[in-house]
Amino acid sequence: MMKDYLIKAYAFDGTVRIYTAVTTNLVSHAQEIHDLWPTSAAAFGRLLTVSIIMGAMYKDDQELTIRVDGDGPLGGMVATVNTHGEVRGYVSNPHVFLQYDSGKLNVGKAVGNGFIHVTKDLKVRDMFTSSSVIQSGEIGDDFAYYFNVSEQIPSAVGVGVLVNEENKIISSGGFILQIMPGCSEESITKIEEVIKNLPPVSSLIEKGYTPEDLMNAVSEGEYQHLETLPLQYKCNCTKEKFEKGLISLGKDQLLEIKEEQNHIETVCHFCNKKYYFNEDDLTQLIDESK
Ligand SMILES: [Zn+2]
Repeated sequence: MMKDYLIKAYAFDGTVRIYTAVTTNLVSHAQEIHDLWPTSAAAFGRLLTVSIIMGAMYKDDQELTIRVDGDGPLGGMVATVNTHGEVRGYVSNPHVFLQYDSGKLNVGKAVGNGFIHVTKDLKVRDMFTSSSVIQSGEIGDDFAYYFNVSEQIPSAVGVGVLVNEENKIISSGGFILQIMPGCSEESITKIEEVIKNLPPVSSLIEKGYTPEDLMNAVSEGEYQHLETLPLQYKCNCTKEKFEKGLISLGKDQLLEIKEEQNHIETVCHFCNKKYYFNEDDLTQLIDESK
């Protein structure tokens, strides 16, 4: 199977920035970790794809946390991404299976109404969050709106996940196209035409389209390649992180846990890895808490 990666390029005489990505493997991996049903998988896969592309827009040690806070049965999703093509996340309700009459997965209804929140941790300064209203809940539209309104960058976002009847991820990926100052009206008209006529990205990837093929399709074949980035679902949790979390509960609560159950098991939301703390561990954590 084709590896997951993205490419970044300039097109239309350097006035348009385009990212294209194939994310089939990492979305399959996320499905396995979180036991995602089809509509949850489609929604979360789209979010992971948008998020990993957004991560590639930044440099160094920056990290983005992107939340889709809808009132639908999905109940909200979170993705955290770095600039090196690594993403992780979780869905409140992994077991959503909603379809339109056509049989297409109804991601919009699963997500519902609400907000998108993008928190940038630039490490050198404070974190800041910008938000925008969910439009259709189909993710692509919602993030196009986010870029247009919150970042003032006219953008088109296409993301798709194809899930078959056996709940297997067949294909996943997408593109983000951003118009920069100086882009001609002629180019904008051309881009609108190209995007209007573009088949769903997931069906192109199912046919074997690579990120380069997607780039060709979106840029009309003329682009200047800038970067290729391998992509993966990766959690960075460690037992130490959970220790810190437990210590922050405070001495009283740790004593209570120790008295009541003698041990504690914590589960990472992002990768479902379990960390076990026995009686001795708890005693040590109690010593370390003030
Ligand atoms: Zn983890």
